[in-house]
Amino acid sequence: MQGGRFVSVRAKPATADPMDLGNVAILPGLVNAHAHLDLNDVPGPLGKPGIGLVDWIGEVIRHRLSTPSTEQAVLDGLRESSRLGTTTLADISQAAPPFNSTISDDIGSQGATGILPVQCESQQTPSVPSTGETPVAPPVALPVAAAVPCVRLVSYLELIAPTLERVELQVERARSHIAAGREATSWLPGLSPHAPYSVRLDLLIQAVALSAENHVPLAMHLAESPEELELIKHRCGPFREFLERLGAWDDEAFPDRLTILGYLQTLAGSHRAMVVHGNYLADEEMAFLAKHADRMAVVYCPRTHAFFDHDPYPLEKMLSAGVVVALGTDSRASSPDLSLLAEMREAARRHPSIAPETILRFGTLGGATALGMSHQLGSITPGREADLAVVSLRHGACRNAADLYHELLEGDAPVVATWLRGRPLHEDPFSEKSNR
Ligand SMILES: [Zn+2]
Repeated sequence: MQGGRFVSVRAKPATADPMDLGNVAILPGLVNAHAHLDLNDVPGPLGKPGIGLVDWIGEVIRHRLSTPSTEQAVLDGLRESSRLGTTTLADISQAAPPFNSTISDDIGSQGATGILPVQCESQQTPSVPSTGETPVAPPVALPVAAAVPCVRLVSYLELIAPTLERVELQVERARSHIAAGREATSWLPGLSPHAPYSVRLDLLIQAVALSAENHVPLAMHLAESPEELELIKHRCGPFREFLERLGAWDDEAFPDRLTILGYLQTLAGSHRAMVVHGNYLADEEMAFLAKHADRMAVVYCPRTHAFFDHDPYPLEKMLSAGVVVALGTDSRASSPDLSLLAEMREAARRHPSIAPETILRFGTLGGATALGMSHQLGSITPGREADLAVVSLRHGACRNAADLYHELLEGDAPVVATWLRGRPLHEDPFSEKSNR
């Protein structure tokens, strides 16, 4: 590693003074493509497993009314994510991140030294032996959350406007967020028109235009529940009743011509879009996403999917169609924690026909591709950012790849260290304690 980037990958060290990380698996830094960190104050999933989405949203609203969102929840969520091996995170929040620290060093030229004024548990930077190879080209650094979190953060502003009078305000919020993100040195801006039941089509169209004009990514919950499909298709069902109860039902907001495919076609006009969940995507919708794989992806949240007891996730079909798949934890309101490794394990358990290396790819390069960062991160490749998740292997040396995948995806081996741009962020992996 040099300058915060991988320089070379080889089986044997190039110097006589290699670092021994012990009995560990070294993964690319994990990419969590969907979270709501402002819900990180929720003590556990809201409602009973199998709860309907509309009832669950009612629980979330009740929670938020009784417990206002705090900046601390977001910061705790970032810290937790980093501890669990996540180095890049796409968060959907009601506000910009509660920090905008200036990174004191010019990462582009200084590389890994003095990268962040972070408050992580370890600031030690072990000396990196020179490989003697030609250094990679000077990196174009991606912003990294600087104040506390030690995570590369894309902050998607949540936009909600079921009624016409709210649209203009949301567009203004979106513009301000993009402007703030341009100034920020520690996060990148994105927009999240929330979902078909909470966003009028006119707002979606304006968000797509802002995304294209400003080259910022979009994320939208889509094809998440049968109730959402019922609303779009027939303009009735639990979501209509819910909106009526809130006094937010508007006939004109749901014209007959609306379809999930239509939403996808609209999203395709953006700079880049992630379809969050996509639990009930049909074949032609997957084919559309595959055709636009250069800028569209799906985010699968396995433990949240399990919590809601949805129909089996069409992951195998998506892969056959060529859809880019990333993984997300979603929020603590539907999942126990922010562990992306746990999401991988749930995906592996639910989809045994899918190769383990493909599952690992979802949580690394798949996420990077979904975020448009696959040239910069997501794999241990010379020239990419030196982000690592180090997993302790408890059960002795793995004899082969199958053993390794078994322990990674079927056991409970923990992440013991996270490296961001060539620096360990938590436990020093060379200490007595973690060198096991
Ligand atoms: Zn979500």
